[in-house]
Amino acid sequence: MFAIRCSSNRVLRAIGARNTLDAPRGPSRRSRSGPRGERSGRALRVDSAGVATKSSSGNDTLGGPGRGHRRGVAADEVRRHNLGAVLERLHLAGPLSRSDLTKATGLNRSTIADLLAELTAIGLVEERPGAPGSGPGRPSPVVQVRPHRASVLAVELAVDSIAVATVGLGGHVYNLVRVARPRGRFSPEETVQDVAKLAGPLLDSLPADHSLVGVGVAVVGITRRSDGFVHLAPNLGWRDVPISAMLAGELDLGAPVLAANEADLGALAEHRRGRQPGIANLVYVSGEVGIGAGVIVDGKPLLGSAGYAGEAGHTLINPEGSVCRCGAIGCWETEAGEAALLRRAGVSEGAGRLSEVAERAAAGDERTLRAIADVGRWLGLGIGNLINLFNPDLVVLGGLYQRLFTFLEPSVLEGSAQRTLAAPGGMATIACSALGPDASLIGAAELVMSRVIADPASFDGPGVGERAGAREGAR
Ligand SMILES: [Zn+2]
Repeated sequence: MFAIRCSSNRVLRAIGARNTLDAPRGPSRRSRSGPRGERSGRALRVDSAGVATKSSSGNDTLGGPGRGHRRGVAADEVRRHNLGAVLERLHLAGPLSRSDLTKATGLNRSTIADLLAELTAIGLVEERPGAPGSGPGRPSPVVQVRPHRASVLAVELAVDSIAVATVGLGGHVYNLVRVARPRGRFSPEETVQDVAKLAGPLLDSLPADHSLVGVGVAVVGITRRSDGFVHLAPNLGWRDVPISAMLAGELDLGAPVLAANEADLGALAEHRRGRQPGIANLVYVSGEVGIGAGVIVDGKPLLGSAGYAGEAGHTLINPEGSVCRCGAIGCWETEAGEAALLRRAGVSEGAGRLSEVAERAAAGDERTLRAIADVGRWLGLGIGNLINLFNPDLVVLGGLYQRLFTFLEPSVLEGSAQRTLAAPGGMATIACSALGPDASLIGAAELVMSRVIADPASFDGPGVGERAGAREGAR
């Protein structure tokens, strides 16, 4: 029924992808007039009425004197979109020749040259001579991003760990640190202090002429995207925590801080850089202490009105079940989350106990294998529900499910087969994350990069000297 594949490729890859952006709706640091639309990856042209339309040929009309204000506004919008389309292609695909960029975007050669000149002037891309080929004429120059000119501080606030990474345009990871945190050191104040301590050395080691364009934060909780406000993170014990504002104050970087749910960001990372980059219909299920789900439909993140969609861990799966940390009874995570697994396996709760389960399973311990099979069936039942709801081509399992996938696989299949309707079930592949434990962290970086790509000309983040000045001024 399903083809399941799993490997533990943890290397961040830059792979050509169908391009779709997660366009956050919060205010930009230096926003321009005009909407920031979802990006289709196609270049735009301006029609005779001054309306931007998708281009499927190289006959693009860009810039130049318009016939009125409306046309001028549309041309600005088209130019912004096309700058973003070119930058996004390079961000995801890696270095490309000018001729490949021309083919990929559908824009003509002179338009590409014009756009690359602007991106080069901003400092986001650079060109080098192409290698001599077998064909006639001069080789096409090769274009690539300059990672440090759009650097991001990515943060993941999980239950058992805090991770911080510096990531450049193109997905280049400069440094990544993940530290276990003791259960009990959960207060928002302690958490932002810990993040600042971890981030300092990483930021200091970035190239001297880097530009920090933002901080992206993945949180295990229900998080409002517009202002990074955590309404509820039951497994951290948080309620109504303005995490973005707190981190902005503690880090004092002069750059925007964007926060979102960790499973939503895991889905974004899997969509862009995961097992099948660019896949249009994807569900990402992340298992930690709780269960989170992120959904990509038609290439776009399914966020809901404020970013709260995907709280699959708190949907009913067993009316006879136990009380959840959210206060309801029989939530999916009470049957398939980490606590259920440890309880069934006879392992006491606590940080690092999952490794004990994995070791016992590898040694063939019967009770442990039975516990994993029970949890896998509940996990599969919930996945079956998600397959029926969203008709994904791919369901990606992350977190603890990625670690234990080899043992979970048969029972997950069994459980999902019980729930799925034949048509959507027959289309869905279930696989473990190709990005490993860092999927949400990578998604946090991509969240910020989305804003750069949405309007490249507006982004020129504070350099290291300016940040030092801001800190001095604050003292
Ligand atoms: Zn619940």
